[in-house]
Amino acid sequence: MNIILFGPPGAGKGTQAQLIVKKHNYFQLSTGDLLRREAKKNTEFGKKIEKIISGGNFVSDEIVNDLLKETIENLKFRDRIIFDGYPRTIDQAKNLELILFNFKQKIDLIISLFVPRDTIKKRIIGRITCDKCHLTLNEFFNKDEIKLHPCGQEHFVKRKDDNLETIMSRFDLYQKTTKPVIDFLSKNPNFHQIDGTLKIDEITAKIDDFLNV
Ligand code: AMP
Repeated sequence: MNIILFGPPGAGKGTQAQLIVKKHNYFQLSTGDLLRREAKKNTEFGKKIEKIISGGNFVSDEIVNDLLKETIENLKFRDRIIFDGYPRTIDQAKNLELILFNFKQKIDLIISLFVPRDTIKKRIIGRITCDKCHLTLNEFFNKDEIKLHPCGQEHFVKRKDDNLETIMSRFDLYQKTTKPVIDFLSKNPNFHQIDGTLKIDEITAKIDDFLNV
């Protein structure tokens, strides 16, 4: 199955994707991660991407489409991809269908995590990630886990785009640009909306139900 995971920034898409990867041996294709990797490289291209991401804007369809093609083409990941953060525009949705069709694949499951604006705000402000094992926790909600983390507390870093101004701009951009994509795809019988304020394992259980049918 190929899966699309939708949700505004901070909805828990990354967390759920990581769980699906572990439990069901999937490959998580996060366009945000791919772009951040490029941005870290000290090239002109990397600097350009870094500037766009820091401003909370969308990277051009052309750049993102090119970056994900490599994974879709790879037979190792055939019918086992979770699209996290993609598609974000109608053009990207059309492009995804086309690339998958060209490789005799399709989207089998679409999940949209719904989380209200205020909850997103709290979640993102406190979000930190271990730069060693990539575990994501929240400064407000996971104090003990952070203290006891095996890699050491000093490895936790904040994402540069996790500040209030950027969050609101990313949320608004999501509402404006990605919501129409969701509305469009919600006509698909494989589309399911899940309450993203539920506990992590409750959401996972719901996703597992869809994966096991
Ligand atoms: P994310 O990790 O999915 O929240 O993405 C972080 C940032 O990367 C976004 O705010 C955008 O600037 C950029 N980005 C990620 N995915 C896309 C995409 N599909 N299209 C355009 N920009 C993207």
